[in-house]
Amino acid sequence: SAGAVASPMILQRSGIGDGNKLSPHGITPVIDNPNVGAHMQDHLGLNYFFKANQPTLNNVLHSWSGRIKLALQYALARRGPMALSVNQCGGYFRSRPDLDRPDQQVYFNPVTYTTTPKGTRTIINTDPFPGFIIGFSPARPTSRGQVQISHADAAAKPLIQPNSLATNQDCQMVIDGAKLCRAFANTESIKQLIDTPFGEDVSQMSEDDMLDDFRKRCGTVFHPVGTCRMGANAKTAVVDHELRVFGVDGLRVVDASVFPNITSANTNAPTMMLAWRAAQLIMESRK
Ligand SMILES: Cc1cc2nc3c(=O)[nH]c(=O)nc-3n(C[C@H](O)[C@H](O)[C@H](O)COP(=O)(O)OP(=O)(O)OC[C@H]3O[C@@H](n4cnc5c(N)ncnc54)[C@H](O)[C@@H]3O)c2cc1C
Repeated sequence: SAGAVASPMILQRSGIGDGNKLSPHGITPVIDNPNVGAHMQDHLGLNYFFKANQPTLNNVLHSWSGRIKLALQYALARRGPMALSVNQCGGYFRSRPDLDRPDQQVYFNPVTYTTTPKGTRTIINTDPFPGFIIGFSPARPTSRGQVQISHADAAAKPLIQPNSLATNQDCQMVIDGAKLCRAFANTESIKQLIDTPFGEDVSQMSEDDMLDDFRKRCGTVFHPVGTCRMGANAKTAVVDHELRVFGVDGLRVVDASVFPNITSANTNAPTMMLAWRAAQLIMESRK
């Protein structure tokens, strides 16, 4: 239960993995199963930023007095913006009417901010003007990446190859999501709140621009899954339907790595559901 990055690496360092990739690290393969560490999926997300012509959370959060007021409101009454997710509003949408189920998660945040450069301590600074974000995350990516050990030493960092946007379907989903955000920004109710877009302006983008922009600016939504996936047999998977590692007695994997496919929504609740089910299975197997 070490998570979708660490669980496959524990198996790999124990000799359970792709034999061709273990041998160069001096690890003797015990069970040759290339599915260990493979099939990784994740959600990616991207934000569009707008200056607003009405006060937003920026107006409060930009000053220390405002921050203290919100902190006190939360501490004393458990109310206010600090009692909410930063994604105060959002939902699942079909970007095209012909789809039979939602393909996009969309977020609305009444705040805009800059973050410190990568590699430095993360500090989020809210902008000194009112602003808000419309962001999206394609919900059903199909590309698959991998996690492999970089060294036999357990302290060595993982090799993570997300392989994102490797399928035409995923690229199309990005374009559809960007267009959906543009459509939201164009609705009467939101248009009247916008002073001007800032940063990358989706209203001016061609489809190619949308995809290029996504490739440049997108980030993980931190939902890696699938690296010890569940399935019918060791040809396609790492664990069986009771989460038992193929070929090893008494070993289960219980975390997001066993998801056969990424869920369309966030992964925390499904992981908790999986853990409950795994606990039942383990209890039953001991009767
Ligand atoms: C920044 C961030 C924000 C997120 N936001 C959301 C959200 O808003 N909503 C949502 O639904 N999901 C969110 N997620 C995803 C969610 O947290 C994960 O899907 C979920 O925690 C997966 O559970 P897990 O048990 O598979 O792995 P984890 O929760 O990662 O648990 C694995 C545990 O194993 C431990 N471990 C690792 N290696 C070893 C080792 N060698 N020995 C012993 N212990 C080890 C780790 O320290 C960790 O405690 C977020 C994730 C991140 C990183």
